[in-house]
Amino acid sequence: MNVTQYLAEEINNCRKCSLGFERTNTVPGEGLYSASVVFIGEAPGYNEDLQGRPFVGAAGRLFDNLLLQVGLNRQDVFITNILKCRPPNNRDPLPAEIKACTPFLEKQIQKIQPNIIVTLGRFSLSYFFPTLQIGKVRGKLLKWNNQYIYPVYHPAAALRNTKFYDLLKNDFKQMKQFLEEKSAETSAITDNPESIQLSFFDD
Ligand code: URA
Repeated sequence: MNVTQYLAEEINNCRKCSLGFERTNTVPGEGLYSASVVFIGEAPGYNEDLQGRPFVGAAGRLFDNLLLQVGLNRQDVFITNILKCRPPNNRDPLPAEIKACTPFLEKQIQKIQPNIIVTLGRFSLSYFFPTLQIGKVRGKLLKWNNQYIYPVYHPAAALRNTKFYDLLKNDFKQMKQFLEEKSAETSAITDNPESIQLSFFDD
């Protein structure tokens, strides 16, 4: 099932911060309800604000390309941002905006329950881990409240410097491996008659 519509109306009606009065469109996020991976960027930019869709500009094309290289496409994942509205001139999100907006993100994560959350760039990393630096932890699997978090650089960084592109390519490959391991674990559990029995008795 597609979760693009989930919370879309609530987000559209939101005026909890000034961005709600300046946006052209809200950008709730898009993708699969059953996605095993959720990608979180920073905030919509110019093109996203015009179209109401995440990652549709130059950084988005690079992101699509990174996904394709590991055999995934947008339809397989869920993609959203820390902020659902564009900050003027693409300035950094303000702490008050992050505070007002992230309850939407939390609900999206709860609904989807992904195996892994990939944070794109420093803003989404610092939402989960305020003290960690992206340069030190990118490509490392972290645990946050029972949830795996995998930080990578923001695709926009790769538009500026090919060094970041190579790192992103490598980190996406590792992320795919992790996803495959996780889904193998999940099917091993459901294929095991004893575990089915146990969950039957647990009910
Ligand atoms: N950058 C982001 O962080 N998010 C988008 O949706 C587009 C560009």
